Amino acid sequence: MAEEPKEAGHTSPGFQNPVAGFGVTFKAMFKKRLTEQYPEQRKTTAPRFHGRHQLNRHPDGLEKCIGCELCAWACPADAIYVEGADNTDEERYSPGERYGRVYQINYARCILCGLCIEACPTRALTMTNEFELADSSRANLIYTKEQLLAGLEEGMVDTPHAIYPGTDEQAYYRGLVTEAAPGTERQVAVSKGEEPSQEEVDA
Ligand code: SF4
Ligand code: SF4
Repeated sequence: MAEEPKEAGHTSPGFQNPVAGFGVTFKAMFKKRLTEQYPEQRKTTAPRFHGRHQLNRHPDGLEKCIGCELCAWACPADAIYVEGADNTDEERYSPGERYGRVYQINYARCILCGLCIEACPTRALTMTNEFELADSSRANLIYTKEQLLAGLEEGMVDTPHAIYPGTDEQAYYRGLVTEAAPGTERQVAVSKGEEPSQEEVDA
């Protein structure tokens, strides 16, 4: 019977190859495990992690967004839709002339690059560390202004309401307004064509 030809550099391939394979397995057994038990155990993200956006407020509750659309122009994924509108003395959402009436971010498009927050001139738009944005519906991935607007903190009154008496827009950006003026109440919103609720009329 003819002898099997030996491959160059391999003395006994039939024996060594399976052992070499197990060698890889044994080495991996003693390495640090990378498996994460998500979602049971959630890791804290880095402080500057780019997560879901937030529309911020001034310390008295007025909105920082002025509806300028710079964030939408800066977005490479065309994920932001903004419609600005004029504030009035009867219905004021931000200290200046304009505010963001409609604000939407489409998270089916957003790549969380952060260019929009760099473009925002008022620091109205920032990013949180929230990363659980997955959804099975495209419609649910379009976040509205109501979803993106920051919650009310102590000293804040929900918009619309008047600016702090005796101040102007500049005072807000200089940090001179630190909370809502005593007695500040939410104004009744009527200019959007919505009928005010009885609760708002009575307030
Ligand atoms: S993070 Fe980037 S992709 Fe997402 S909305 Fe902002 S600019 Fe657009
Ligand atoms: S979030 Fe900032 S950049 Fe975007 S519309 Fe509002 S103020 Fe302008």
